[in-house]
Amino acid sequence: MTLRIYNTLTRQKEAFKPIDSKHVKMYVCGPTVYDSAHLGNARPVVVFDVLYRLLTHLYPKVTYARNITDVDDKIIKAAKKNNESIDTLTKRTTDKYHQDMAALNALSPDIEPRATQHIQQMIDIIKILIDKGHAYAAEGHVLFSVKTDPNYGTLSGFDKDQIISGARVEVAPYKNDPEDFILWKPSTDAMPGWESPWGVGRPGWHIECSAMAKAYLGETFDIHGGGIDLVFPHHENEIAQSSCCNDGKKLANYWMHNGHLGVNGEKMSKSLGNFFTVSEKLSEIPGEVIRYVLLATHYRQPLDWTGDVAGQAKNILDKFYNALDGNERQVVDINSGLLESLQDDLNIPLALSHLHELVSEIHKTGDADQKNKLQNELRVSANLLGLLYQDPHQWFKSAQGQAIEAGEIETLIQQRRQARADKDFALADKIRDELTAKGVVLLDSSDGTAWRYK
Ligand SMILES: [Zn+2]
Repeated sequence: MTLRIYNTLTRQKEAFKPIDSKHVKMYVCGPTVYDSAHLGNARPVVVFDVLYRLLTHLYPKVTYARNITDVDDKIIKAAKKNNESIDTLTKRTTDKYHQDMAALNALSPDIEPRATQHIQQMIDIIKILIDKGHAYAAEGHVLFSVKTDPNYGTLSGFDKDQIISGARVEVAPYKNDPEDFILWKPSTDAMPGWESPWGVGRPGWHIECSAMAKAYLGETFDIHGGGIDLVFPHHENEIAQSSCCNDGKKLANYWMHNGHLGVNGEKMSKSLGNFFTVSEKLSEIPGEVIRYVLLATHYRQPLDWTGDVAGQAKNILDKFYNALDGNERQVVDINSGLLESLQDDLNIPLALSHLHELVSEIHKTGDADQKNKLQNELRVSANLLGLLYQDPHQWFKSAQGQAIEAGEIETLIQQRRQARADKDFALADKIRDELTAKGVVLLDSSDGTAWRYK
């Protein structure tokens, strides 16, 4: 079976034909590092992580690039608000992002370019676009002239004529046409800025991805991915810039987009109080549970994080790990049904149903060798989804208590001991209740307090 993927460009499932069958190249838009990643940011990371694992299984070499946007107006604003330097903010947020994504068992991309280290490549593309008549400089800005690109709108179905005739938005004075977008803009002394032929300034967001993708994957590569909200304008603009710069060459042959993530049927937003960062969720539930929830809905469908999805996912993982118990490792093939499901446009829900079937077979068989083989099949197949990567014993030990680590438990026990010494029994009880809520049982004795996970 060959890999088929749904291509947003053509709006249909297509057989995947890499430019070089020995080396597949993929680019996924990465985070703008101004704040902690939220659950919606984690979805593309986990979805494209499964694609990366699948491609690596199917092809001899895969290069996966995912950028870090470390220059952006949101960053300037957040640094000011937090009263910290831009460097401190972007470094702190990038480190946090890496930690959070590792906790979801997402592999690191092969290349993680940072926008601020590719300013020259951006300037080079902008110069070419101006030379070719696709961009113009005005008042320290450089803008892409959308009307010069006859293919603009191919990805998103954006109809520029309709927008122009209906537009009532206030148009910036330096724009020739309302739909033109920024490639370069001027920076004041307080803002990050680089010397350019158009004065000291900084790049627009879209040009960053065009430049970094070209630098590492070439003018045309195989797969470009991201969340559905990036289709317009971000990806449409990436295509326009890159194709117009590179003599009409396609930026990517296949465009893949994951659906939105909502919470309790609503859009996740700070004002609705249903906004969760990845690290907030990680303090409550194991990363593998979050990963399972993010994968259990088809990647192109909207995902609704409702009340008990995490509890259900946890129970399923318990069941899976339970079936692995006592397994002796041996080399076996990945389950063919699971592999076929993944090759059909990453049908992960169907792939998961094959794991459930394997679990049933494991419980049914009376033959020890057969059981061991099936257990290995379950493990290696789940590993392709980035699941069941822990030792079952470790899972059952940590899944209850992952909300709180051993070091933190010891600290709280110490604080409780002090509270009791101070005869602050209310505080001592509060600490014990907090630990109980996190699945930790305290065992007081004359020797002190021991603990175990529930
Ligand atoms: Zn991008």
